[in-house]
Parts: sequence; C-alpha cells; structure tokens
Amino acid sequence: MPRQHSEKFNKFRIQVRNFVENELEPASREVEKNAEIPESLVNRMREIGLFGLSIPKEYGGVGLTTLEEVIIYEEITRTNACYRSRIGTSNGIGSMGILYDGTEEQKKKYLPAIAKGDCTAAFAMTEADSGSDAANISTSAELIREGWVLNGAKQFITNAAAADLFTVLAVTDSEKRTRGGVTAFAVEKDVPGLYIGPADTKMGLKGSHTHELIFKDCRVLKENVIGGMDQLGQGFKTAMRVLDKGRMSIGACALGASQKVMELCIEHFKKFGVSKPNQAVSFELANMATKIYAARQMLYDAASMRDAGHNVTTQSSMVKVFCTEMASQIASKAMDIFAMAGSLTDSRFEIFFRDVRLYRIYEGTSEIQRIIIARDLLK
Ligand SMILES: Cc1cc2nc3c(=O)[nH]c(=O)nc-3n(C[C@H](O)[C@H](O)[C@H](O)COP(=O)(O)OP(=O)(O)OC[C@H]3O[C@@H](n4cnc5c(N)ncnc54)[C@H](O)[C@@H]3O)c2cc1C
Repeated sequence: MPRQHSEKFNKFRIQVRNFVENELEPASREVEKNAEIPESLVNRMREIGLFGLSIPKEYGGVGLTTLEEVIIYEEITRTNACYRSRIGTSNGIGSMGILYDGTEEQKKKYLPAIAKGDCTAAFAMTEADSGSDAANISTSAELIREGWVLNGAKQFITNAAAADLFTVLAVTDSEKRTRGGVTAFAVEKDVPGLYIGPADTKMGLKGSHTHELIFKDCRVLKENVIGGMDQLGQGFKTAMRVLDKGRMSIGACALGASQKVMELCIEHFKKFGVSKPNQAVSFELANMATKIYAARQMLYDAASMRDAGHNVTTQSSMVKVFCTEMASQIASKAMDIFAMAGSLTDSRFEIFFRDVRLYRIYEGTSEIQRIIIARDLLK
C-alpha cells in the first residue's frame, strides 16, 4: 500500500524534485569539473529550506518527520551526491547533537541560523588513529579558569571549510573515556587555535570537501559543552544517537542514487539497445527493481519506527549496510549494461559510479554496521 503523506509534504516533494531536475542536475557536470557548488545554487537551497529539513519548526526549520526526511533525501540524491552532502551535515551529524542534548540556550542560539543555511554545521569525530574505532579518539579538552583548551587533530571532516560551527568530540577524562570521559563541544569556526587544512582530493563527491581540523591550544568557552556541564562526559552517547539517524539518511541517499541509476539503464536500453542478449539485461533490471523495492520498504519501516519513538540502532545499521551495498552492486551491473558509454566522463552515470562507493565508508563502514547488528543478535 502506498503511504499517505500530507498535501503540504507532497507539494514540497514535487518542489524538490523539480529543483533537482531543472537546476541541480543541469549544473552537475560543471560542479564536478570545478569541484565547487556555485553560491547561487546554495542560495536556492537556502530559499527552499533544504538546510532546515530536520530542524523543528519552533527553531525555524521545516520540521519533517524522519520518514519525510528520508524521502526528500531520495529525491536530492537522484543527482550529484555532493549537493546532499552540502546540506547533509547541517541537517544531520553537525546539528543533531545540539537538538538532542543541547541546552535550550544553545538550541535558540544555533538552530535557527542552521535552519536558514546562514550557519553551516559540521561534525568532527574521526582522527588518524581512530576511524572505525571511534572510542579511541585522542583529541583532548582540558578545563582551565577561562574555559576549555582543546588539543589534537581530526580528519576527513565534511564541509569543514564552509562550516561556521563544529560538533567536536574530545576526551575530558582519559580514565573513563567512552564511559563518561568523552564530551561533545559546539566549537565556532573563529575560536583561537582552530586551523583548517587543505581539501582532500578524493575519487568521488568532487563538489563536497573533507579537511583536516587542527586544535592547537584551541580556546572554547565553558558554556560550549553541548548540554552544559550536566552533559560533561556524555558526548560519546550523543554521537551514537546522532549516527543512528545519520545512517538511515545515508541509506536513503544510496537508495535515491540506485533508483536513478536504474532509470538511466532503462532509458539507455530502450533508446540504444545493447549488445548483450535482451533477456540478460532485462533480468538485471528486474533484479535492480526487486532490491530497490526491498530497500525502500526497509528504510520506510525503520524511519517510521523512529518516528514512533523506538530505538532504531540495529535497524539503522541494517538500512545503511543493505542500501549502500545495494547501490554499489547496482552501479556495477549498470556499468555492464552501459559498457564503454557508462565510463565516458560526460555520461550522467559515471559520477554515480564513483560516488556511491563512498556511502559504504562514512558514518561507519559496512563492517562496523555488521558488528552493531551482530552485537544486538548475540546479546
Ligand atoms: C566522504 C567522506 C566524508 C567523511 N566525513 C566525515 C565527517 O564529516 N566527520 C567525521 O568525523 N568523519 C568523516 N569521515 C570519516 C569516516 O567516518 C571514516 O572514514 C570511517 O569511519 C572509517 O574510518 P577509516 O577511514 O579511518 O577506516 P579504518 O577504521 O581504518 O578501517 C579500515 C578498514 O578496516 C575495517 N575495520 C575497522 N575496524 C574493524 C573491526 N573491528 N572489524 C572488522 N573490520 C574493521 C573497516 O571496515 C575498513 O574496511 C568521512 C569519510 C568519507 C569517506
């Protein structure tokens, strides 16, 4: 049964789909070449409200439910993934810690600006020696009379150069570590002692950049512990809650890309045919459609469970691993169908082929998702 949504949401969805088709997709190749999204398009994203999808209306956002939000991500990722990445940290890992565990003062200070797109929020957890093993971070925060002093370095931080605000995970008690010794800080971009390294050059997501963040005796105000002193040492829990939702969002992105890749295959096959026997190609298309159907049901079920207030840690990991691995399989099969035409750098498909592989890495690799799922099964 198709799910029922409000008329207002259906209109918003159509507005986003038109924006993707008429404005984002036509600029995609140029964005890829210049490794930059033009500010005029970022302004259009602001106008439409794309920076505030997940932020409640009381703080100036669109206030979508989880189910509605994943549907909008499916729409946005029918084109170049870097566009979603530009809004993704503000709607997700960069702001959700403040929304879930921040003080009312912090919410009022930051969320309305994030929702408008005037303040880009980013999330800094990964370090050189702690990617998957997030519990092993070593960036430290020490409390002195004037406030906190942070030292250490983070890597691969999405939107770091565009960001005005970072959610930063740092060790405040090296004995307790993840059991009460990791704290989340809201760090504004112009605090003394915060440096941003050059953009990494990557195989995909060319229009979205990751950078190193360096903290050298970086000064952060006392009140910038997310949630205040009551939340001191609770940052790891905040980060895990943030990632529960983030993983569902990445699943939605992988699904949106998969759907578009399948549609491109169908279009190509109908227009040009391919040298493979027709039945071989039609079976591949049938497999793609079947997997996409399963992935969508799984995603919508998990999102609805979250909206109903259930813990969805395991379901989020299932969604992430299933949808992102599916996207890689579909991209690989699509390359068989397109053959040389798919590998040409001016084909629409080639960008998807590179970008979907990265979904399997960030917000926890496939192996990490399997560890989470298995831990729940065996507890
Ligand atoms: C495009 C992109 C954007 C990113 N943006 C951000 C960001 O905004 N903020 C941020 O903090 N981080 C970000 N990251 C970093 C990302 O979260 C890490 O890359 C990811 O967690 C994996 O860490 P790693 O790269 O250090 O790999 P490693 O942890 O070194 O893993 C290497 C391999 O070992 C496997 N492995 C590790 N541990 C285990 C285990 N216990 N059992 C089985 N296998 C294991 C992994 O699955 C992987 O295959 C981003 C990464 C990418 C690619």
